[in-house]
Amino acid sequence: MRFVPRFTDGRAFPQPLGKIVCVGRNYADHARELDNPVPDEPLLFIKPATSAARLEETIDAPFARGEVHFETELALLVGETLKDAGAAEAERAIAGIGLALDLTLRDVQGKLKDKGHPWEVAKGFDGACPLSVFLPLSEVPNWSALAFTLAVDGEERQHGHGADMLFPVPELVAEMSRHFTLEPGDVVLTGTPAGVGELPRGAELRLSLTGGLEIVTGVAD
Ligand code: ZN
Repeated sequence: MRFVPRFTDGRAFPQPLGKIVCVGRNYADHARELDNPVPDEPLLFIKPATSAARLEETIDAPFARGEVHFETELALLVGETLKDAGAAEAERAIAGIGLALDLTLRDVQGKLKDKGHPWEVAKGFDGACPLSVFLPLSEVPNWSALAFTLAVDGEERQHGHGADMLFPVPELVAEMSRHFTLEPGDVVLTGTPAGVGELPRGAELRLSLTGGLEIVTGVAD
């Protein structure tokens, strides 16, 4: 069954989830922690719709394939078609904001990167993108004032601020639309700040977004 994005007020988005367009290294502190150079243009990749799962439900992952890492990210629900969009058009097309985990098979990804191979299988497996409900947007928010956190078993592990994004939301979404047409029901992940780490089995996760989103969820044993 296709994943359908939902809003905090219980409404279902009228379209099922399409693709999930993601950016790597959108925070300089995270690029440095993985020893990656800070990019001068966004490093984009796609997770398939089949990788989506509900963040509010128990998170499962293919732990037998090696270390599974969490990356906490601001998620944007696309409400209108965007192709070669400018920044102002891009930000007006965002219908909701939420939170996501960009789960990554870090050992698998490392081996593929070493060989210069694509690393889709490390990022696109079933369940690789737990997505929260979305706060509906009636007006464009102050992107640089947005902040979010992840706590694992009560300990804060990641906090992100919109102001620290190398490519701010409007420019990032516009750039994405120059490579891939964005359609209603697509989701954009905006990159992770520092503090990524191994997802502990059986852990409790608490994700918060300024403006009212607070999600407590768990990882399968
Ligand atoms: Zn990520």
